[in-house]
Order: sequence, then structure tokens, then C-alpha cells
Amino acid sequence: MPDHKMSENPGGRSKAGALPVVIAGAGISGLCAAHWLKKAGIEVIVLEKEAEAGGAMKSRREQGWLYELGPNSALETTPLIEQLLGELSILDRRVYAQAGAARRYILKNGKLTPIPMNARSFILSPLWSPKGKLRLLREPFIGRAGEEESVADFVRRRLGSEMLDYAVNPFVSGVYAGDPEKLSARSAFPKMYALESKHGGLFKGLLARRKAKLFSLREGMQSLPATIAVSLGESLQLNAPVERIVPMRAGRFPVYTVSYRSEGKPGTVDASAVVLAAPAPAAAGIIRPIDPEMAKTLESIYYPPLAVAFSGFRSDQFLRPLDGFGYLVPGIEHRRSLGSIWSSALFPGRAPAGCSALTTFLGGARQPEWAKLDDWELRATVMDELRPVLNIVGEPLFSRITRWERAIPQYNLGYHRILESIDRFEQNYRGAFICANYKGGISVGACLVSAQQVVERIKEHLKS
Ligand SMILES: Cc1cc2nc3c(=O)[nH]c(=O)nc-3n(C[C@H](O)[C@H](O)[C@H](O)COP(=O)(O)OP(=O)(O)OC[C@H]3O[C@@H](n4cnc5c(N)ncnc54)[C@H](O)[C@@H]3O)c2cc1C
Repeated sequence: MPDHKMSENPGGRSKAGALPVVIAGAGISGLCAAHWLKKAGIEVIVLEKEAEAGGAMKSRREQGWLYELGPNSALETTPLIEQLLGELSILDRRVYAQAGAARRYILKNGKLTPIPMNARSFILSPLWSPKGKLRLLREPFIGRAGEEESVADFVRRRLGSEMLDYAVNPFVSGVYAGDPEKLSARSAFPKMYALESKHGGLFKGLLARRKAKLFSLREGMQSLPATIAVSLGESLQLNAPVERIVPMRAGRFPVYTVSYRSEGKPGTVDASAVVLAAPAPAAAGIIRPIDPEMAKTLESIYYPPLAVAFSGFRSDQFLRPLDGFGYLVPGIEHRRSLGSIWSSALFPGRAPAGCSALTTFLGGARQPEWAKLDDWELRATVMDELRPVLNIVGEPLFSRITRWERAIPQYNLGYHRILESIDRFEQNYRGAFICANYKGGISVGACLVSAQQVVERIKEHLKS
């Protein structure tokens, strides 16, 4: 970190000419914003609370196993992903999901049932009854609802309850670890919601959408933020939690004094603009002194707890092949896990030779209590869930548990009001921007899009 910008006296001002943009939080959102600002020739300082960059994107390699604590993969939903990997010269480290991973399963009556991939297998699929399938024919003739709906109400109304139970409910827990009865259709799945009035209906519209490819990196998802962190060099300071921002008038637009701690000592830095890229509860703490109402709004965003269990086995412990991406568990099955990703079948290099690995999820908005079991109970529960489904013999050779006390922000009913408050905050505090997964979408791709939009807005702001 260039020390001419920093001061260890709270309230101290930068003596430098142009002030930097200060970013609070080095998750993928904050890092991408920093990367693109720097590329545009704008000086940035990123302050990160933890000892490593990446936020939710964390990967670990131990004893030949490579496991993810957060996202296991991401969909290439935006050309920004390819652009970013190219700019960082790591396109050759991208790995796509192996061909067999196109096969995905839903648990029905305790059995793995393939998700149909074409019209014929859909018609033959035991996931839905003939009546449930015929119900889809009515869909193009169903109009829009007058008021905001939950994902569950939206799907029940348009596609029928069987589609909710054995398609959308498990899908929602795979994406958000969320509860479709609580998530807002319009805020949580804006693209799906928009399809309602296009393509002659939602179902046809979903079929018409091009499939995005699933990717990771050879050394795991964290190598993406880690590479950005390296390229930022001294512009990124770790172990440096931001505590508050204070706007100070300078001409027509305020500059901001950002207070933070570094190695326990207080420091301040003045900024031409600030980007809040920390999770909502942390951002709430940072802005509370200047906008307690907005802080309350941010604190109201629900992040359910989630436990992620990585389990490694000898491949011959499975009496059933791991021949796909993994499986999702519908709520109606009343099991304790949300599903399991077959990590070693998905990407190469996740397990030592002759071994296989699974990543199993417990908790989320549907069953938060299961994420809170102690380690011993959690390990036993994971095996109780996996054993009958995958016919596993014996115990795992390797097991690691990650707990997210607050995993993924839920875009629940009424979320548009939170988004409106964020817009109002940014209008009231010109030069303060919010760029995080609780604003423009939770996926890694959505975080990149949000970061790029914020960078464009900052460039406009600095021009003025
Ligand atoms: C278990 C799990 C599985 C997921 N699976 C997928 C998936 O398969 N595919 C997918 O696309 N997405 C997935 N996601 C979602 C995706 O990973 C996240 O939405 C995304 O990584 C969030 O990035 P972010 O930068 O907005 O926030 P974060 O990653 O939360 O980063 C915020 C950063 O701010 C820092 N911070 C906090 N307080 C302060 C402070 N006071 N000062 C400075 N810094 C601070 C934090 O330490 C953190 O580094 C998953 C998420 C989780 C948790």
C-alpha cells in the first residue's frame, strides 16, 4: 500500500493531489471493481478485513484433495468472465465441467432420478405425473399477477405445484440455499420473471435460453480473486477492516474520509469515491454513523446459515457410479441435506488418484437448524444422507466442514424496497457506491456485471 495516501491519525487528510477510490471488501465484487478502475487509470485502495482476499470464494488444497468452501463453480453467464480471465492471463487455468456433468439428479422417493435434458426424456420422466406435465400446456395462456409474488406462488400459478416441488424448489436451494415460499420472483429471478411475457410463456422461454457453460479454475475458484489480489499489489491491504466513512464537502461533491484499522491501529484515508463491497451486515456497521435508517435496512437482509461438508472416499467405496454433477433434494422429500455435488466427477484434480470426492450442503433458508449441528453430528448426518442414496461402503478417508453463519443474501418478498433504499442512499451520498452480491445478483457472474456497472458510474462521477 502506498503510504503517502494513508494516515494513522484518525481524521488525518491525504496530502496527495488526486484522491484514490477506496473499496471496502476484497470479495470478487470489490476486487473486480478495483481491477477495472485500475485499468482505467484510476488509483484505488482496497481495504479487506480478513487475512486473505476472495470473500466467499475460498479454496483449499490438502493431502491431494482440492475443495471449495464457497462456490464450487460458476456459470459463464457474461462475456466479462472470459474478458477478466484474459486480462489476468489465466484463461489457460479455466476448466470446464466434464462432459458427464451435464447429467444431474433430483432425489424422488429416496432415489436418484435424472433431470430430463430433452423433450422425449421429459415426457417419459417419472419426476412429474402425466397430469403435472399436461398442466404446462396451459402456461402460455396465463396472464401476469397483479402483485408481487413469491417464487413458489409464481411457479404454482404458471407451471403447477408438481413443477414447484420437483424442479423449482430444489433448484432454488441449489442457487440461493433459499426458500421459494419467501424469495421474491421479481427480485430473486428477474430474468425468469421477465420471461413471463415473452416467448409465449415462461416454460417455452426457459427452453429457448442458451445454456451457459459451467467453469472453475484448475487450482479452485479462489485462484480468480487471488490473481486479482496479486495484480493489485500494494493497492490491496489485508487485515484492514473499514470502520466508517464520513463525507466531507469539497466543492459540489463530497470526498470521504474512510476510517479503518490496520494491525490493530486506527488509520484514515481520504477518497474521491468509496465502494462498499462488504456483506450487508458489515456495510451497515460502516454507514450507521451517517445513515442509521439505511444501516437498519441493510441489516434486515436475511443470510441463512449453511454448512458445507467435503468428503473424500476411495472410488471403490461407491457401489454406484458418480456419473454426473450430483443431486438436489426437494423440500417435499423431508431429508436433512440440500444436495450433494460430485466434485471429483465435475472437475479434474479434486481428489487423489483412485479417490472420489463429494460436497454436501446442509441448512439454508429451508432448514437453517441443520447447519448448526456440532461437527460430530454434522459428519454423521452427512453420511446418513449420502449412504443410502449412493450406496457408500465404510467411512470417508478425508472430511472437512465449513460453516457459513451468514451464507447468501436472500432476495425475499419486498426486496425491491431494499434495492430502492440502496438507490436513494447512493443519490444522497454522491460518490458512495454499493457493489456486492445483495444488489445486482448473487452469482459470481452477476458480481462481475455489478462491478463493471459501478466502475462506469465512478468514471462518470469523477468526470463531474
Ligand atoms: C457456500 C456458498 C456457495 C456458493 N456457490 C455458488 C456457486 O456455485 N456459483 C455462484 O456463482 N455463486 C455461488 N455463491 C455465491 C457467490 O460466491 C457470492 O455471491 C460472491 O462470491 C459474493 O462476492 P462479494 O464480493 O459480493 O461478497 P463477499 O465474497 O462476501 O466479499 C465481501 C468481502 O468483504 C470483507 N469485509 C467484511 N467486512 C469488512 C469491513 N468492515 N472492511 C473491509 N472488508 C470487509 C469480507 O471479509 C469479504 O472478503 C456461493 C456462496 C456461498 C457462501
